[in-house]
Amino acid sequence: MEVKTAVSELKLLLGDRVSTSDADRFHHGNSETWFAAAPPDAVVWPENTAEVAEIIKICAAHLVPVIGFGAGTSLEGHTSAIHGGVSVNFSRMNKVLRVNDQDLTVQVQPGITREELNQELRATGLMFPVDPGANASIGGMASTRASGTTAVRYGTMRDNILAMEVVLADGRVIRTGTGAAKSASGYDLTALFCGAEGTLGLITELTLRLHGQPEAVGAAVCAFPDMQSAVNAVIMTVQCAIPMARIEFLDALAVEAVNKDADMGLPVQPHLLVEFHGSDAAVAEQAERFGEVIADFGASGFDWSAQAEDRSRLWAMRHRAYYACLGLRPGKTAVVTDVCVPVSRLAEAVIAARALIDAAGLVAPILGHVGDGNFHAILLIDPDNGEELTRAKSVSHQMVEHALSMGGTATGEHGIGQGKMDLLRQEHGEAVQVMQAMKQALDPQNIMNPGKIFS
Ligand SMILES: Cc1cc2nc3c(=O)[nH]c(=O)nc-3n(C[C@H](O)[C@H](O)[C@H](O)COP(=O)(O)OP(=O)(O)OC[C@H]3O[C@@H](n4cnc5c(N)ncnc54)[C@H](O)[C@@H]3O)c2cc1C
Repeated sequence: MEVKTAVSELKLLLGDRVSTSDADRFHHGNSETWFAAAPPDAVVWPENTAEVAEIIKICAAHLVPVIGFGAGTSLEGHTSAIHGGVSVNFSRMNKVLRVNDQDLTVQVQPGITREELNQELRATGLMFPVDPGANASIGGMASTRASGTTAVRYGTMRDNILAMEVVLADGRVIRTGTGAAKSASGYDLTALFCGAEGTLGLITELTLRLHGQPEAVGAAVCAFPDMQSAVNAVIMTVQCAIPMARIEFLDALAVEAVNKDADMGLPVQPHLLVEFHGSDAAVAEQAERFGEVIADFGASGFDWSAQAEDRSRLWAMRHRAYYACLGLRPGKTAVVTDVCVPVSRLAEAVIAARALIDAAGLVAPILGHVGDGNFHAILLIDPDNGEELTRAKSVSHQMVEHALSMGGTATGEHGIGQGKMDLLRQEHGEAVQVMQAMKQALDPQNIMNPGKIFS
């Protein structure tokens, strides 16, 4: 690997859009969670696809790793340069290229964040609904196959990407998919690159599905006597096919955290936070049906509102919930687990997770997008206490094993990154060899985000 030569060539190509400063390198090699910082050798800011292709060609010629960087909010150490290399920051490729309002699609560059995109779409009456809470970039969300609070109604990134432009590990530029709503033409390469965590190529353009902004929106919170009742209420809601736009679970400890952080004044009990989309009449009907379902599970305090301010306050609190949970142990960090099970097994999985956490003596709120069977435990740890980290990793591991035994997955939305590599084979068995064969075929020199997904 000849990093110095590669960086000199990159400087000739991009001028001052190459940085080797400690501050930039540290920012790009750091993580939101417990992973040790691993700074790249340099950071570059391309402005178009041709530049991305040249960057990759230079890195390929010198066997230098290439790590895509969107907003850096991923949770499994995805953007750390564990083998050094060049971090490719997409923040200057953040344009909306075309809104096709008749087809309900939009073409964007990967660096645009979901909030920027929805701001630009506001006047069109359309929206891009995938919401991972953090203000992530669309390229990063595609690369982690992200979802979040609205997936129960609108699907995940996988369901909302029609086409992509990708620069491969040798600098070739390909397009996957088309503007058509569906296709049976050849292998589904859009699906392959969605969730590849930058290990197969860099995404330089995306065509996304859009949805109409709902005419009316209603939101509510409600408390439950215990976790089992809250989660069983979710299962019944899903089975009754009430078209929930969001249905989020917070356990009592998470409620304690958001009360402290956002002065919410909620009773310290498990809660569901919900949202309904539709016409005025449809929202009222959904809220009424939901109210009937949860009454059977002992819910209290259900009082829905169509007021935008109430809703904003509720979802601002939910979007800050991770940081609120960190506030339960100031100055510490977290191992964040993310498992997903068939919704019918959800109560069992959440209760088992709580038992594992308590047995390990850890402080760890549980919350999640339970309408999809997806939940997270935020295992708070002292980064300087190796024994505590080992305990947290063991709980996370056991939660995944439990989810797999129920027909679930090791990660519903955060991805594999560095944190869950050892669980890939347990989930997929021999299919991991097929994944490795694809990696080998597309990136034979292993320069694209090496050390992620596979060790
Ligand atoms: C508070 C908080 C809440 C969160 N909640 C959720 C949630 O509800 N649901 C959810 O799914 N996630 C959630 N996340 C995780 C995170 O927001 C997602 O993983 C998000 O998709 C990452 O996007 P990003 O732009 O930050 O990507 P980054 O972190 O910058 O990168 C993520 C991965 O994508 C690769 N990459 C980035 N851009 C490109 C590109 N153009 N081409 C190829 N590869 C690229 C990177 O190399 C890396 O492997 C949360 C994170 C935080 C901090």
